[in-house]
Amino acid sequence: MKVLIDEEQINSRVIELGRELAQEYQNRPLTIIGILAGSLVLLADLIRAIDVPHQVGVLQASSYRGKSTTPGELQVNLDYLPDLTDRDVLLVDDIFDTGKTMQTVLAQIQDQNPRSLKSAVLLWKEEASQVELEPDYHCFKIPEHFVVGYGLDFNNEYRHLPFIASLEGSDLA
Ligand code: 5GP
Ligand code: MG
Repeated sequence: MKVLIDEEQINSRVIELGRELAQEYQNRPLTIIGILAGSLVLLADLIRAIDVPHQVGVLQASSYRGKSTTPGELQVNLDYLPDLTDRDVLLVDDIFDTGKTMQTVLAQIQDQNPRSLKSAVLLWKEEASQVELEPDYHCFKIPEHFVVGYGLDFNNEYRHLPFIASLEGSDLA
């Protein structure tokens, strides 16, 4: 495992993004929606860095199954979404890879008639994108490596690591 982004770098960038979002959303009815499970560490840190009143909710989306590092069929569960009618919604995910998860989930949230809708991610694998869409906010661009930590898992392990690391071939075996 090789550390790509350390704890200090993540913390300072998340604080910085929180300040930027607080400016953007002051005096607006902001709801932040985290995509489970990968966004949960970012969600917890980011909401405490956004010093304006806002609501928080979650939805669940998963495309990886078990030990695989390649996506399967995307499954989305909106059962726990709060009412988003006339809210300014910011959708938060761990990583924008092909972009298909973000694209699909944004379309489903748009159906709930928010006042506005934007996306924020911790990591952006810009070269892996397979959609026209780009994230509105991101913390770091990374190359096309499979990464873990700060919420991101491999086979549901490593989410608790406070840094982002790439897994090498032997780690993935
Ligand atoms: P996309 O739909 O953009 O291809 O993929 C988004 C989802 O795939 C992310 O929410 C994340 O769960 C998973 N994913 C994509 N790349 C990685 C990666 O490098 N590491 C991990 N752990 N998950 C990834
Ligand atoms: Mg995910």
